[in-house]
Amino acid sequence: MTETDWGNGVDSLGERSDAWNRLVSILPGDVLVVDVEGVIHHVGAPIARVSGYRVEELLGRSVEVLVPPDARRAHLERRADFLRDPKARPMSLDASFRLQTKDRGEMTVAITLAPITVDGELWVIAAMHPPTSASEDAHERQRELAATLSFVTMLAESEERFRLAFEANTAPMVLADINNRAIAVNESFCQLIGRSREEVIGADSSAYTHPDDQTISATVHQRVLSGDIGEATYTKRYLHRDGHVVVVEVAKSAARDAAGRILYFVISQRDVTEEQALIAQLSDQALHDHLTGLANRSLFEDRLAQARARGRRHATMGAVLLVDLDDFKGVNDTYGHLIGDQLLVGIARRFEMVTRDSDTLCRLGGDEFLYLADDIASPHEATEIALRLLAVLATPFEFDGIRIDQRASVGIALYDAQSPDGDCIQEADVALYEAKRERRGASVVFHPSMRQSAVSRFSLTQDLHVALASNDLTMHYQPIVDLATGTVEGFEALMRWHHASQGWISPEIFIPLAEQSALIVELGRKALREALSAAATWPAPSDGRASPSVSVNFSALEFHDRGIVQLIDDELAESGVAPERLVVEITERVALFDVTETLATTRRLQEMGVRVALDDFGTGHSSLSQLAQLHPAILKIDKSFVSPHHSSADLEALLEAVVALGAKLGIEVVAEGIETSSQLATLRTMGCGHGQGFYFSPAKRADLVPALAEHVFNL
Ligand code: C2E
Ligand code: MG
Ligand code: MG
Repeated sequence: MTETDWGNGVDSLGERSDAWNRLVSILPGDVLVVDVEGVIHHVGAPIARVSGYRVEELLGRSVEVLVPPDARRAHLERRADFLRDPKARPMSLDASFRLQTKDRGEMTVAITLAPITVDGELWVIAAMHPPTSASEDAHERQRELAATLSFVTMLAESEERFRLAFEANTAPMVLADINNRAIAVNESFCQLIGRSREEVIGADSSAYTHPDDQTISATVHQRVLSGDIGEATYTKRYLHRDGHVVVVEVAKSAARDAAGRILYFVISQRDVTEEQALIAQLSDQALHDHLTGLANRSLFEDRLAQARARGRRHATMGAVLLVDLDDFKGVNDTYGHLIGDQLLVGIARRFEMVTRDSDTLCRLGGDEFLYLADDIASPHEATEIALRLLAVLATPFEFDGIRIDQRASVGIALYDAQSPDGDCIQEADVALYEAKRERRGASVVFHPSMRQSAVSRFSLTQDLHVALASNDLTMHYQPIVDLATGTVEGFEALMRWHHASQGWISPEIFIPLAEQSALIVELGRKALREALSAAATWPAPSDGRASPSVSVNFSALEFHDRGIVQLIDDELAESGVAPERLVVEITERVALFDVTETLATTRRLQEMGVRVALDDFGTGHSSLSQLAQLHPAILKIDKSFVSPHHSSADLEALLEAVVALGAKLGIEVVAEGIETSSQLATLRTMGCGHGQGFYFSPAKRADLVPALAEHVFNL
C-alpha cells in the first residue's frame, strides 16, 4: 500500500479554486465527489482503501467503476434522476449500495448523497460507510453524515452566494464550524491579523488572540452554541503578526438548518483599533495633562468628589496638597521653555514615585501640582506626605549638563466626614500662599483664619503699585560679618513690604510678581536709591576701618537693562557713596541669562570700582569656566549649602571646595544663611572669609544699622 492510501486523507484531480480546496479540506474522509458526468474528482483514502484502489487510480474515472456491471444501468438512471432536480432531494439517504472492489469482489455499503455547487458547477458528494448490523447505529451514523453533508452543502452554497459579498467584503469575515475552527476567511481578515489563509483555516483563533482575551471567544462561542444567546456582539483584541494589537468588534451569528441545528457560524468583524485609540486619546486628553501625563484638574476634582463622598460614608479623613514650585519662572526665563518643560516632567516622575496607589497626583497647570491623599489617619500624615514630596526635590535635576535645584512649597487642606462642602483646592491655595509668605520650601495646613488674609495674586500686584508710591516698601539691612574678626564689613539691603492688611510680605513673593510686570525696574531703582542714601549716612567705624559696604540685589530685568551702568553711576554720584562701597548682587540665573552681556556689564562696573557678587551660588548652573571668566569680586554661597535641611558629608565637601575655589581665584567668599554656631565653626575651619545669617542678625531697620556697624560678634 502506498502512502496515499493510508494518508489522512484525500487527493483531488488537477488545480482547483480556493473555494474547492477549502471545501475539500473540511470533507470527512469517507466521501467522494463526482461531477455531473459521474467523473470522480475527489476521493477520501478510506473509500479507496475498501475498494482496493489507490486514490490516483480512482481520480478521473467514472464512478461506475465502483458499481458492479449488472447494477450500472440502474445506477446511471438514479444519478440522472438525482441530478435532474437535486434541490428537490437535497439529501438522498440510501442505506444500501453495491460497491464493486478492484478485484471484482462486491460489498454492500450505506451511501448518502448531497448536491453541491462550487464555482458555479454542480457536484455530487457521496458519503459511504459500511452498513452496520445494529440498525440504531446505522441510523445514527446516517444522521451524522447527513448533518455533515448538509453543513458542507450549505457552506459550498454560501461560498457561491458569499463569494462576492464575503471575499470582496472590506469587513473582515470568518466562517467557523461548530468547534469554532475557521472554515473560511476573507482577504480582509487575513490582512487584519497579518496571516495567510493556510495559517488560519482549520484552527481556532487562539494563536492570534490577545492573551487577555483568550477566554472571551470561547465563552461567547459556548453561549451561542448552547442557544443561550442567539447572536453575540463583543469586542476583543487580536495580535497582528508584527505584534501590534488590533481591536475588533465581533458580530457572531449561527447559520441553522431547517431543524434549527447549528451548521456553522458567520463571524463578521469591524476593526475599531483607531476608533478606540481616538476615544482613549480624547478621554485621556480630556482627563490628563498633556505634558506630564498626570491627571488634570477635572479628573482630580472627580476623584476628590468621590473621595469626599467615601469619607462621609466611612467617616474617614483626607487631604488635598497643593504644591507650587518656587521661582519656576526663573528656570523658564533662564533656560527656555524646553528645559522648563523637561523639569516639570522630571518633577512629575519624582512625585509619582512617592504617590500612594490610593492617591491621585495631578498637574494643575503651570508649576502647580495637586495631591489627593485619600483616607489618612491624622492631619500629621498629610504633613508627612508634604515632606515626602518636598524631599524628592532635594536631589538637583540635570538636563543637558544643566543642573537645576528646584524647591517647592505646599499648602494643605484637610477634610473629614463632618467638614462642610468647602472647596479644598481653594483652601489649599490659601495655605500655600501662607507657606510662601512664611518661608519657601515649607508646608502649611489651611486654617479658616487664613481666609481673611488671603488675597489673589492679582490684587497683590495692584497693591504693589500703591506700595511703591507710598512708604510701604522699605529697605532693611543684614550685616555681613568678617568671620576672622567678628566685625561687620557691610550690609545687604533687603526689601521689605509691609502690607496694610496682610502684614509683612516676603520679597520671595513680591519680587517675582514685580518681575512679571514692569514694576521691577521702578522697584529696583527705589532699592538702589534708598540703600545708597542710607549708606551715605553710615559713619566709618571708630576703629579706623572703612565705612561698611552696601550690597544691593538686582533681578534679571534690572541688570540686563541697557541703562544699568549709567543708572548706578548716576545714583552713586547723587548719594555721594564711593563706588568701592557698593556691591551689586546678581544670582547665577541672572548672570547666565545673557552671559556676554553679563560679562560686559560686570567689567564696566568693576572698572568703576563697583564690586559684583554672584548670589545664591550653587543653586544656579554656572560652569567653572564661566565663573573664572566672569570673575566676580564676591561669591555668595547659597544658604542651602550652609544651613541645609539635611546636612551631609557631600554637601560639606562641596562647601569646602567652593571656599577653596574662591581662595584660589582670588574671589571673596560670603557664606549666606549661617544659623548655628556649629555652622559658623565649620565655615571658619574651612577658611571662609565672610558670612551673614540669623546667627548674627536678621535684616534690620535702617535706623538700627549704625549701632550694628559698631558691633563685634563673638566667634
Ligand atoms: P538673597 O539676596 O539671597 O537674600 C538673602 C535672603 O536670605 C534674605 O531673604 C534673608 O532674609 C535670608 N536670610 C538671611 N540670613 C538667613 C539665615 O540665617 N537663614 C535663612 N533661612 N535665611 C536667611 P529675603 O529678605 O526674604 O529675600 C529673599 C530674596 O529676595 C533675596 O535673596 C533676593 O534675591 C530677593 N530680594 C530681596 N530684596 C531685593 C531687592 O531689593 N531687589 C531685588 N531684585 N531682589 C531682592
Ligand atoms: Mg542677595
Ligand atoms: Mg542669596
